[in-house]
Amino acid sequence: MDIDDLATRILAGERRALARAITLVESGRADHRTDALTLFDRLKGHEREALRIGLSGTPGVGKSTFIETFGLMLTGQGLKVAVLAVDPSSARSGGSILGDKTRMERLSRDPSAFIRPSPSQSHLGGVARRTREAIDLCEAAGFDVVLIETVGVGQSETVVAEMSDLFLLLLAPAGGDELQGVKRGIMEMADIILVNKADGDLKPTATRTCADYAGALRLLRKRPQDPQGFPKAMTVSALEDTGLTTAWEEMQNLTQWRRDNGHFAARRAAQARFWFEAELKQSLLARLEREPMKGLVRSLGQLVEDGAKTPSQAADEVLSQLEGRISPVA
Ligand code: GDP
Repeated sequence: MDIDDLATRILAGERRALARAITLVESGRADHRTDALTLFDRLKGHEREALRIGLSGTPGVGKSTFIETFGLMLTGQGLKVAVLAVDPSSARSGGSILGDKTRMERLSRDPSAFIRPSPSQSHLGGVARRTREAIDLCEAAGFDVVLIETVGVGQSETVVAEMSDLFLLLLAPAGGDELQGVKRGIMEMADIILVNKADGDLKPTATRTCADYAGALRLLRKRPQDPQGFPKAMTVSALEDTGLTTAWEEMQNLTQWRRDNGHFAARRAAQARFWFEAELKQSLLARLEREPMKGLVRSLGQLVEDGAKTPSQAADEVLSQLEGRISPVA
């Protein structure tokens, strides 16, 4: 593969080259990994900055409808929009829930849009790394907005929030005053809560639901990275395309405020550190599951079972072996 050529074509914004490069970073093959690292090296210094928007919501809440309407609105304003998905369940279910391109048919035909389903990886760590690299590739290809969608299975919201500049939570109108069992932790991650389907018969319920969430958000601790009024709850209708212009204005206001106050860059820097540490932990664990460490762990496990060593003695032994294998950096 001609990596220099691929890099040139990505920088020129060619969608096919971008798709190929994402396939490359998704590959588990060692030679592909080497090519991917070379590619990132070639792209280094050329990265442009997209606005990375994370979007979470349970199935049926209207994510694909929202992304299609919102995406078309943005491309209509002359912006280039990429859509990526984080769906750790895709490996289990065989086909990705977020993989179906027909979900966003009009957007996928738009020459200013690029839609990529979730890679089929069994564990979230693998999906996370590949999504982060895909975001970098989209930025290199000159996309203005990168939307990262997740269904919120397990820890996937945290993963998406940790790679986004803004995090949106999409909710459906709910009867009564129950807050749809949305976990506090997820509410705390949201910059904007969008109550979707605020149309027709559902409109009054959506308005009430929105007020409930606005109240709940006011009870959360004030975050230094937020201006007055954020995080906020708003109603939208993805189907009828109402409220989306206002929602986009709010996203831009928040982004501008964070840029002006240094929070935008600080958040990206903290995220880079977070992913460094996450990758490190993941790689260390992977090492323990490979020979020769795997054999050592197995035999020490037996000794612990037999009462010949205490658990901490055995763990210490593994760690000192591991340290002995890592050559110190000069
Ligand atoms: P996803 O599973 O979160 O991607 O949800 P979809 O976008 O596939 O939408 C699920 C269902 O909700 C579909 O039947 C949509 O037509 C419907 N839907 C999505 N957005 C709206 C909306 O704003 N108003 C109404 N009334 N229905 C909507």
